[in-house]
Amino acid sequence: MINLKGDSFTYLRKMFDSVRIVNPNDCSEISILNNDIECKNRTESCYRMWGKGTKCNNCISSRAYNEDGTFIKFECSGEKTYLVMAMPIIDEGKKYIIETIKEIKDGRFIYGEENFTPNQLYEKIQHNNELIILDELTGAFNRRYINENLPTEVSKAIISNNTLSLAMLDLDDFKMINDTYNHAMGDFIIKEFVKVVKENIRRHNDWIARYGGEEFIIVFRNTDKEEAYTLCERIRKAVQEHVFFKDNIKIDLTVSFGISTIAEDVNNSELLLKNADDNLYKAKDNGKNRVEKD
Ligand code: GH3
Ligand code: MG
Ligand code: MG
Repeated sequence: MINLKGDSFTYLRKMFDSVRIVNPNDCSEISILNNDIECKNRTESCYRMWGKGTKCNNCISSRAYNEDGTFIKFECSGEKTYLVMAMPIIDEGKKYIIETIKEIKDGRFIYGEENFTPNQLYEKIQHNNELIILDELTGAFNRRYINENLPTEVSKAIISNNTLSLAMLDLDDFKMINDTYNHAMGDFIIKEFVKVVKENIRRHNDWIARYGGEEFIIVFRNTDKEEAYTLCERIRKAVQEHVFFKDNIKIDLTVSFGISTIAEDVNNSELLLKNADDNLYKAKDNGKNRVEKD
């Protein structure tokens, strides 16, 4: 176990209000050094101190873990603002994340001389934390969000005996749209497509992220294969029927889906993505504008 009483930890304790070691994979807080209070092997969630009840969207501990580097962010809790830093350490061959937390007593530290009310500051910080995990063009979650959150979603579902399905989507014959019109038209279609999907998913249950180019994933929590199929069919039809209209040009768009669902042999995010991708290939091979599942 990590020696929290070592010299380097003594310095950290002096510099920060709180120093803790977390495991971003299951959001557990392994130990916390809060000034002189130290508890080991806590099983509480590390996110509980932000009062969110769930993993932070902008989880810099996952980022530090995945990208093997140090990351910082601002967070709010109540009326207080904190600077949070996450950095990876290796102990006995295992990787952990050290999180240091420091209260910022003066909001000007973040936004210069402008004087914000605590509420305004909160809004700004939340907004900035959101921007980092959103795709600029579409406002869907970005690839980084997938990397940081899909593994957690999958292990949470497995631990709590819930199911979860994932769909991989790819726009059909999209190259032709770019080639026939122009890139701006392509961008417009991608943006509008995400709007249509968002209107047709369950707001607090499902999320869409841009996997790359004109490929997306949708995560359906608590949803089995058959339900996911029904939901994807609904989205597929909504896209097909939607009028994509720009510069007096009307464009028909269709999209193909590959679905995968958690199973005994599909028990991590990589396998879930691979299965969905295989089924997406099938959908393309079988004529596009269709949904394929196992
Ligand atoms: P298929 O039905 O087999 O998927 O055919 P496709 O033409 O959609 O597939 P392909 O992968 O060949 O082409 C995808 C195109 O999407 C190529 C790429 O230039 C375009 N694309 C990717 N990202 C963007 C983007 O952000 N904006 C625009 N305008 N085009 C993009
Ligand atoms: Mg395509
Ligand atoms: Mg593609």
